[in-house]
Amino acid sequence: MTMHYELLATRILEHAATHFPNKEIVTRVGEDTHRYTYTDMFTRTSRLGNALRELGVGRGDRVGTFAWNNYRHLEAYFAPATIGAVTHTINIRLAPDDMVFIINHAGDKVLLIDPDLAPLIEAIADRLTSVQHFVILGEPDEMTTALPNAACYETLLAAASSEYSPADVDEYSTMGLCYTSATTGLPKGVAYSHRAVYIHSLTSAASDMIGVLERDRIMAIVPMFHANCWGFPYTATMFGASQIFPGVRPDPRVICEMIEREKVTVSAGVPTIWIGVLDYLQRSGVEYDLSSLRQVVSGGSAVPLSVWQAYRDRLGVEIVHAYGMTEATPLISVNRRRSWLDHLSDQERVELNASQGVVAPGIDMKLVDENGDALAWDGEQRGELWFRGPWLADEYIDDERSAETFIDGWYHSGDIATIDANGYIQIVDRVRDMVRSGGEWISSVDLESAIMAHPDVLEAAVIAVPHPRWQERPLACVVSRSEAADPLTKDTILDFIRPDFARWWLPDDVVFIDEIPKTSVGKFDKKVLRERFETHA
Ligand code: ADP
Repeated sequence: MTMHYELLATRILEHAATHFPNKEIVTRVGEDTHRYTYTDMFTRTSRLGNALRELGVGRGDRVGTFAWNNYRHLEAYFAPATIGAVTHTINIRLAPDDMVFIINHAGDKVLLIDPDLAPLIEAIADRLTSVQHFVILGEPDEMTTALPNAACYETLLAAASSEYSPADVDEYSTMGLCYTSATTGLPKGVAYSHRAVYIHSLTSAASDMIGVLERDRIMAIVPMFHANCWGFPYTATMFGASQIFPGVRPDPRVICEMIEREKVTVSAGVPTIWIGVLDYLQRSGVEYDLSSLRQVVSGGSAVPLSVWQAYRDRLGVEIVHAYGMTEATPLISVNRRRSWLDHLSDQERVELNASQGVVAPGIDMKLVDENGDALAWDGEQRGELWFRGPWLADEYIDDERSAETFIDGWYHSGDIATIDANGYIQIVDRVRDMVRSGGEWISSVDLESAIMAHPDVLEAAVIAVPHPRWQERPLACVVSRSEAADPLTKDTILDFIRPDFARWWLPDDVVFIDEIPKTSVGKFDKKVLRERFETHA
């Protein structure tokens, strides 16, 4: 037998403190930069754990974070785990009612709040039923909040012991909590065990997955409240990579400046981030040295091929396409080319990048029809993807909706896909985003991707609008580039994509809007568009 060794997230922290004591953690703080090491981070995390104990946080208690990507948030990713408690990352962009719902539903005992975000909590404070302490993530001179009895983070840390005395917990105990932003209905909570986070970190760091090296300088743009920041804070700590945090409201200029100045090697974010960066570079004409970047991880929604190509051809940067969800800690698959596909032509290799890639080792996957019967992996048959594995949730916490999604040990993703003979997943659409036209399904993702390949198109989202005869028909909502020479028209767009689609797939209309609304995690918000164009004829 092998040793009994619990897979705990705290081991990740201990390993970094022991083996990477001098590696750097960098945060943009306004015009300044805060730098410290894993040794500092470990000491402060130990102090935070003890400070939370002093505030009465015990095993299983929830500690909410309400913060940007910064070093204090990193400390809060680990400190509750050291005392057997749970970090609950709260989405700072939720509507107030949803914030109230998730904080009360999680039963957060303490909230750790970035100073500039405090007004958002002040506005809902009297509706919070479980919070006993508000802690402002700053120095004493940043304590301008009106929150009752708010404590200062740095004061608490200074007073707390730096002794590291981790709680004796079992690997299946919960250490993390995140609510999906749920585009319909109330948010749903997903709990993560120590074990899930540990195994997810090991797997996602593998070269054929995200690939994380000690020598990397990783800057995740994906917010720390979105699906565990895709695991980067844990994975980077486990392997001793330097972590770069972009701080408050990172816009494309900040992203480019940070990459250049901090020699970032890996960055990560949803496609709208990378579309925005590309647009900024084109419009501003500013030249940045981005040569340190070895890869950009993009996931959360499909990466349009045109964006992938622009990064490769204009910036010499590879976009690595990843797929996952809050329910999966979040990684499911990554697009890496299998060796036996090396013979593909250049064009075929490019096209392969539209795929969400191959499933991570450890995850079982099924493609099924509406009766739950398995479909062939032939790249043609479309069905729903089901998953199970060591870092997949088995329920939404305290939520009756669990029964619709977690069935007989499988997580039903609601994602419609094909899988080809090589195991490559191609997400066709989310079930709720597909356009049902005369009993047939049209993929909004395919149409969007094709429209976004037009050089004068900045963003495009395709939605279903009700139709008296066909039930639903596609409507394309398009944002043109400000510097486009000729104004775009419906015909330009339809003529551009016509060769690639059957006639009945073509959108009935194309509307030009100033901006595609985004969800709280930066994806195209089709719910808002559907409401706006519900009566569009
Ligand atoms: P939300 O539901 O708020 O968007 P998640 O990030 O958990 O929060 O959403 C996960 C979903 O996002 C997946 O089920 C899938 O529909 C979509 N998704 C994630 N990554 C990709 C990708 N690379 N390509 C296409 N869709 C993706």
